[in-house]
Amino acid sequence: MKALICRPPGVEFVENAPEPEINTSESRVRVYWAGICRTDLELTKGYMGFEGILGHEFVGVVDDDASPLPRGARVVGEINAGCGRCEWCASGMERHCPNRTVLGILKRGGCMAERLTLPHENLLPVPKDVPDRVAVFTEPLAAALEIFEQIHIEPIQRVCILGDGKLGLLIAMTFGIRHEGPVVLLGRHHEKLKTVEDLVEVHLENQFDATMNKQWDYVVDATGSSSGLNRAMQLVKPRGTIVLKSTMAHAEALDLTPLVIDEVTVVGSRCGRFAPALEFLARRKPPVERLIDAEFPIEQARAAWDRASARGVKKVLLKVNAE
Ligand SMILES: [Zn+2]
Ligand SMILES: [Zn+2]
Repeated sequence: MKALICRPPGVEFVENAPEPEINTSESRVRVYWAGICRTDLELTKGYMGFEGILGHEFVGVVDDDASPLPRGARVVGEINAGCGRCEWCASGMERHCPNRTVLGILKRGGCMAERLTLPHENLLPVPKDVPDRVAVFTEPLAAALEIFEQIHIEPIQRVCILGDGKLGLLIAMTFGIRHEGPVVLLGRHHEKLKTVEDLVEVHLENQFDATMNKQWDYVVDATGSSSGLNRAMQLVKPRGTIVLKSTMAHAEALDLTPLVIDEVTVVGSRCGRFAPALEFLARRKPPVERLIDAEFPIEQARAAWDRASARGVKKVLLKVNAE
């Protein structure tokens, strides 16, 4: 089958990738669309030493008569597959299972291929009125919504989001729709900030001066860089909370003294559950299509990768199979 293989320092399109192995606990899915995310770009730079088929953001259809879901059902899939035996799995937290595999990230081939397999319980039907190009955002949207599962935020509290990358913009959309109090997004790209300016207040970072320091109950760092935490420590109120979404491959020496002096809470936040994300897409209709920058057929993977790697680019989608 056609697939994109991780070959640091890049990607390789192949036509003869082996079909994913199937067993009784898993369903096979035919992939329509796959999204390229920052993690994929990092993997092709050698992050985590991943080998194999890339991709973890997808929408497709069940392509399997043995699946508990009907053949042809439109689905998205939770990316973490737990061992099913440990205390994390028993409490529904497969995403923290120490023996998990992760679609296209850890010991499991990904979705940038004609077909993939995932455990039956990982697959969720897509509501009828959620189009494919919207459903493909379920995984990153779940990561944005995870913040609301982790913190309890009062309606009047002030929120500052750092970073106008794909995740920062999705987080801004979710806060813009869900949170009644003031929400500000700080970024570096005027064009990207414009995509959410009807939902939240946006500012170029360098126009946000020191009078704004220590004004924010919650600061969400989605910059993807180690400077984000420094900035968050300046902006957060004493006794406020910083939500960290950035994973930093190259950690710098960081002075954490302000966290102690200001008694700041720091919450690490990674990925979230798909069910609330699908419901949010169906009911609140966040305008995620605005984040699509370009679409390429899977055969043009190199061009897609170049585009996705360029500065200031939003979401690049790969068309894998025709509907
Ligand atoms: Zn991702
Ligand atoms: Zn487990």
